Amino acid sequence: MVDIADRTLVADAFGRPLRNLRLSVTDRCNLRCQYCMPEEEYVWLPREDLLTFEEIHELVGIFSELGVEKVRLTGGEPLLRKDLPTLVSMLADSPRITDLAMTTNGILLSEQARALYEAGLHRVTISLDTLRPERFKRLTRRDAHVKVLTGIQAVRRVGFTGLKLDTVVIRGTNEDELVDLIEYGKRIEAEVRFIEYMDVGGATQWSIDKVVSRAEILARLEYHYGEILPIREISSAPAERFLLPDGTVFGIIASTTTPFCSSCDRSRLTADGMWYLCLYAPRGTDLRTPLRAGASRDELRAIITSTWQRRYDRGAEQRKELRGRGVLVQLEGLKEDPHLEMHTRGG
Ligand code: SF4
Repeated sequence: MVDIADRTLVADAFGRPLRNLRLSVTDRCNLRCQYCMPEEEYVWLPREDLLTFEEIHELVGIFSELGVEKVRLTGGEPLLRKDLPTLVSMLADSPRITDLAMTTNGILLSEQARALYEAGLHRVTISLDTLRPERFKRLTRRDAHVKVLTGIQAVRRVGFTGLKLDTVVIRGTNEDELVDLIEYGKRIEAEVRFIEYMDVGGATQWSIDKVVSRAEILARLEYHYGEILPIREISSAPAERFLLPDGTVFGIIASTTTPFCSSCDRSRLTADGMWYLCLYAPRGTDLRTPLRAGASRDELRAIITSTWQRRYDRGAEQRKELRGRGVLVQLEGLKEDPHLEMHTRGG
């Protein structure tokens, strides 16, 4: 442990710091994307188990004392959580949180972008897997493409900068839109990031042949644009960034074929207060129970510190080593424990 000013920084068993917290504020979603929520109905977290804003604020405060400086609001779809700007303003007040971001599907953004901006949210990332309305409808089973595009415009209008668009690339679904998405990103001044299809909980239709690898994404883009150069950066961010000949920057998150567990400083807090040290971890640490039982700040700090110090997780690397890699958890297992779902863990 290292004391820095008013923080005590903790590192895990591989020396990785606790720096990045993905905060799921709801497990509900208003889309049913085939790579994440292929079913129509799910076993949802009981409402009474959801952390209140005060409880979230308390836990994030402790995490930030232990080194967390980046917080990303996730879901499900985070904008389904009522009064989200109130939580944003509570978190934005902390000087220790230097990066307060949100990943959203964008459907409700046109209504909420201004309030989120005024509440102090720093950045927005929007999931956008296709520019084609019919394809969007097939992929998500909701007819909401125009709302997403309107939401993207609203983000720009109210003053957010640093907009990112995340695209999960799936063979046979949208790998023919890489160039179109880059061109769209240029027009709206957003950085596009292509994400390899991952075999996480909830991806019950995953198979290796549907994965479009980082190498293939680069080859397809090079075929169109010419030479692509990697941008050399020292960062624990999941996206590797690249430069097109015209100066356009884009990213690839190659979690499936080129895992980056060795620098992973991310953990995930679910909406009901379970803390997961890895996207693939079968179990988490329950922080809600001690919090509601009246544990002191020091006691909660001790639980978080000792749990992180014992962290050996490197899920994506281990998945890559598997022979005959297939679906991580079958449907029955997901119904028994919804915490295994990616939409509960916040992706
Ligand atoms: S698989 Fe786990 S350890 Fe590896 S990068 Fe993802 S969350 Fe981090």
